[in-house]
Amino acid sequence: MESQGVPVEYQTGVTGIHFNPDGTSTTTVEDKDGNKREIFARFIIDGSGYGRVIPKLFGMERPSNLPPRKAVFTHLVDTKRSMDDEPDRITIIVHDKAVWIWVIPFSTGITSVGFVADPGFFEQFTGTQEEIMRALIASQPYIAERMKEAEYVFEPRVLQSWSSTTDKFYGDGFVLTGNVTEFLDPVFSSGVTLATVSSQIAGKLVVKKLRGEAVDWNKEYMDIMMQGVNTFRSYVMAWYEGTLDTVFLPTTRTRDQT
Ligand SMILES: Cc1cc2nc3c(=O)[nH]c(=O)nc-3n(C[C@H](O)[C@H](O)[C@H](O)COP(=O)(O)OP(=O)(O)OC[C@H]3O[C@@H](n4cnc5c(N)ncnc54)[C@H](O)[C@@H]3O)c2cc1C
Repeated sequence: MESQGVPVEYQTGVTGIHFNPDGTSTTTVEDKDGNKREIFARFIIDGSGYGRVIPKLFGMERPSNLPPRKAVFTHLVDTKRSMDDEPDRITIIVHDKAVWIWVIPFSTGITSVGFVADPGFFEQFTGTQEEIMRALIASQPYIAERMKEAEYVFEPRVLQSWSSTTDKFYGDGFVLTGNVTEFLDPVFSSGVTLATVSSQIAGKLVVKKLRGEAVDWNKEYMDIMMQGVNTFRSYVMAWYEGTLDTVFLPTTRTRDQT
């Protein structure tokens, strides 16, 4: 974005937005030293992810219909990577019913490992975040040998209850993209796909709008994005319910029945 001439301000956050009746707006931003300034915009594309700037500022946040989930993850120095047959592949491990692990090897030799489950699953593990992560890794034979003594790049972190949604993905003078609209769950890696597609569609529609052409935001944006979100939602829900195989192969049995 920056290389294409878009000014980018680092370590600067949006703290307020005032919309004018004609849809133009004045945004207040604050840098890390507390300096505030205002930015005038003809139109805003809000791509603030979990920051969810416009939904929070204007009371548009709504709870998701997905149950809360928790992830515990870290990056580790993966010196025993060559133990695996295909060590450079991203691997998703089904650890237990509705508990899964991501293993994402980076070209630097560092690997991202995360456990995702219902928050109750983690209650059996106690201690510091590192002790919990080490116990989790030791409990999974597929990664235990390779990773049980690996050095951690940072103290394992916790993310919880990330699913969220909002009433509308657009309004007078703004459009929401990516995680600001709706974020489901990482299990199908839909986040970056939906963020990229929504930004591309929204960007084109904003150009159209600023040229003075009519835009039907419901039809040209929201309906398209909701179709994508709802498709992934059916996969996510079916995966956690243990019925995903019946979505793809309607005659197969559920995980509980096998
Ligand atoms: C545990 C977990 C694992 C995941 N794994 C995957 C995966 O393997 N594959 C995948 O595709 N997706 C994955 N995702 C989802 C993915 O990370 C997101 O869907 C994706 O990053 C969304 O992109 P975005 O551009 O909408 O938001 P972000 O990438 O979150 O970018 C938002 C930007 O806005 C900035 N911002 C926030 N608030 C403000 C403010 N007030 N002022 C100014 N700037 C602000 C932030 O600093 C950030 O730079 C995962 C998510 C979770 C929770």
